[in-house]
Amino acid sequence: MNLTLADIFAAQNTIAGIAADTPLVPSPFMSAQCGQEFLLKLEIAQPIGAFKLRGAVNAIANLAEEVAGVTCCSTGNHGRGVAFAAAQRGMRAVVCMSSMVPKAKVDGIRALGAEVHIAGTSQDDAQSESLRLCETDGLAEISPFDDPFVIAGQGTIGLELLAARPDLEAILVPLSGGGLAGGIALAAKTIRPDIRVIGISMDRGAAMHESIRAGHPVEVTEVESLADSLGGGIGMDNRLSFSLCRDYLDETVLVSEEEIYSAMQTLYYEDRIVAEGGSVVGLAAMLAGKLPSFSGPVATVVTGRNLDMSVFTRIVNGEDVTLGDTVVRGKPYGA
Ligand SMILES: *Cc1c(COP(=O)(O)O)cnc(C)c1O
Repeated sequence: MNLTLADIFAAQNTIAGIAADTPLVPSPFMSAQCGQEFLLKLEIAQPIGAFKLRGAVNAIANLAEEVAGVTCCSTGNHGRGVAFAAAQRGMRAVVCMSSMVPKAKVDGIRALGAEVHIAGTSQDDAQSESLRLCETDGLAEISPFDDPFVIAGQGTIGLELLAARPDLEAILVPLSGGGLAGGIALAAKTIRPDIRVIGISMDRGAAMHESIRAGHPVEVTEVESLADSLGGGIGMDNRLSFSLCRDYLDETVLVSEEEIYSAMQTLYYEDRIVAEGGSVVGLAAMLAGKLPSFSGPVATVVTGRNLDMSVFTRIVNGEDVTLGDTVVRGKPYGA
């Protein structure tokens, strides 16, 4: 399977009118920190509040005729994207989840028009239910990151960035399964081979970062993080996103929970933007001095805004946040 720039241009046509061409806005505060113009690509402005709509719309548009509907087992932004994209086409969507998933997430997916199947108590149980539905109901499962149409859809962000700012020196991309970073890097580097694309993850359970270092997909232990959208593995039988990230990313950088916490505060207080922990890792790496120095404009993708507001208000107020068995120590912004 060989994904090319042509597939990403095709995706751009396919998703037009459903997924938004999102705003690219300067952050004066971050520009001052960076010493270069620092731009925010606001994927929070998508109809589902996150970029995953792009890949879901493209994947669903490219399904075979005989497919009766779609399924996935993401309770997060991918589930929302699949639900919304299927509803747009009048297609059945079933999102499988375990009984451990909080009611707010279940309701959110239902509100977007998908059926929710609760199966067992673990992510593995939900996965089995999703596979069963493919067999019994003729549904197609849509991978959150390791599907050529999903990757091409996410890659359209790279096309929009370079169309708006052909002079970008670097793109900072939140990195989990690597569909986003792989797609953007393929698009951007094919058009502008000298551009730098840097993938950024949280420092605990960074599956793609560890896999690239090992030279093959590896398992990581998943722990709770403020960047919950960046959790999870890349799949031991990864077909596409691993090799794309390995071949096209210039580097991968890790940020701590404290750095994510202060980047969320910074984006809120300086730019008045509410964004998920997983969305601000590009800012976090910049603010923590973990990036090389730049001599031209830099953009980061602010990937989503679907966060737990009770956690967010704690961060805004500078309070501690408990994540499993660790506590992220709070401090008021600017203190
Ligand atoms: C899925 C997601 C990411 C990471 O995308 P991958 O393709 O898995 O690397 C980043 N931010 C948000 C908000 C997401 O939902």
